[in-house]
Amino acid sequence: MKLSSRLNDVRGEGAFDVLVKARALEAQGRSIIHMEIGEPDFPTAKHIIEAGKRALDDGWTKYGPTQGDPELRDAIAEVVSKQRGIEVSPDNVVVTPGGKPILFFPILALLEPGDEALYPNPGFPIYESMIRFTGATPVPMPLVESRGFSLDLDQVRDKISDRTKLLILNSPQNPTGGVIPEEDIRAIAEMVRDRDLIVLADEVYSRIYFDEKPFSITQIDGMLEKTILLDGFSKTFSMTGWRMGYGVMPKFLLDAVCLLMVNCNSHTSSFSQRAGIEALRGPQDAVDEMVAEFARRRDVIVSGFNNIPGFSCASTGGAFYAFPNTSKTGIKSEDLESRVLNEAGVACLSGTSFGAYGEGYLRFSYATALGEIKEALERIDTMMRKILG
Ligand code: PLP
Repeated sequence: MKLSSRLNDVRGEGAFDVLVKARALEAQGRSIIHMEIGEPDFPTAKHIIEAGKRALDDGWTKYGPTQGDPELRDAIAEVVSKQRGIEVSPDNVVVTPGGKPILFFPILALLEPGDEALYPNPGFPIYESMIRFTGATPVPMPLVESRGFSLDLDQVRDKISDRTKLLILNSPQNPTGGVIPEEDIRAIAEMVRDRDLIVLADEVYSRIYFDEKPFSITQIDGMLEKTILLDGFSKTFSMTGWRMGYGVMPKFLLDAVCLLMVNCNSHTSSFSQRAGIEALRGPQDAVDEMVAEFARRRDVIVSGFNNIPGFSCASTGGAFYAFPNTSKTGIKSEDLESRVLNEAGVACLSGTSFGAYGEGYLRFSYATALGEIKEALERIDTMMRKILG
């Protein structure tokens, strides 16, 4: 039986492929340091887990409203408003199983063949995959290392056309760790303000930053009304397995997303949502401690990579990824990914797992203990000194 041609252009995530290869090496007795998966290595905070357990005991085990638990939507609206200094109504909030559905459903609802969608490249692979899935044309916006992995604004201006229906921004970024500066976001807002297009601001790493607080396009007058804001619980609260995310968007899009939700998952897990209320309204110490630890690791990993022959690494402003430039090694990124895994025992991802503009880079997730990070740097250093002499 042949699958629908609709699936021809749908792609998965490289991280899961490398994980399988790394596990196979471990099964042969090899020691592997895992830096491929984008998941915080901290447990979900105890008070959130307790809230989840209480929710189960209290019977939050039944169907609930598609748009999300009203109390959780209130909490989300409060937190999103306070964090960004904007005014969000709970009526514009939809809760989803993870942040990913805020890519899947709005892209499905908006795009069709003939439309164009701009997206960052290298970027989260789901952007390009989902745009292709709808038959629309993906138009990459290259990220520029010398601009702290922000966008080339002239290129963005040139690429916006009357067919552009969606423009995706991601800050802090996966895979680069870069944060797009406020002035660049303001410049992009001016480019799109009078056009009939929607911005999708993927701010799933909004709380994980080390220097300047990331600026959201929703903070600009008139932009909340034409933006889909994606955020969630996976990264901020180390709740990847609870599958909880949310979107804030204009009503016409929210209705479309809810319609697709009804056709797909009905709603997000009822007891997970009760734990989400505790995550947002309870103590925030665990988030602060996690971010402080990521900052310490960032310093070690960035300076470590800058001492490895053939590698150079720009400092990062957020998320938990380092994206060293490896072009001076003379080895193609995919080959280097394999060699670093097989010869040094460190699992990482080729920059090309995030799009064609990722050639010449590797992505390392530093959601792993400092001792492991130091060991990984030593292993890669030894390997590169052998290769480059
Ligand atoms: N957006 C970006 C940029 C991500 O890196 C991820 C997860 O890796 C997501 C969205 C999806 O997050 P979730 O696990 O909540 O679906």
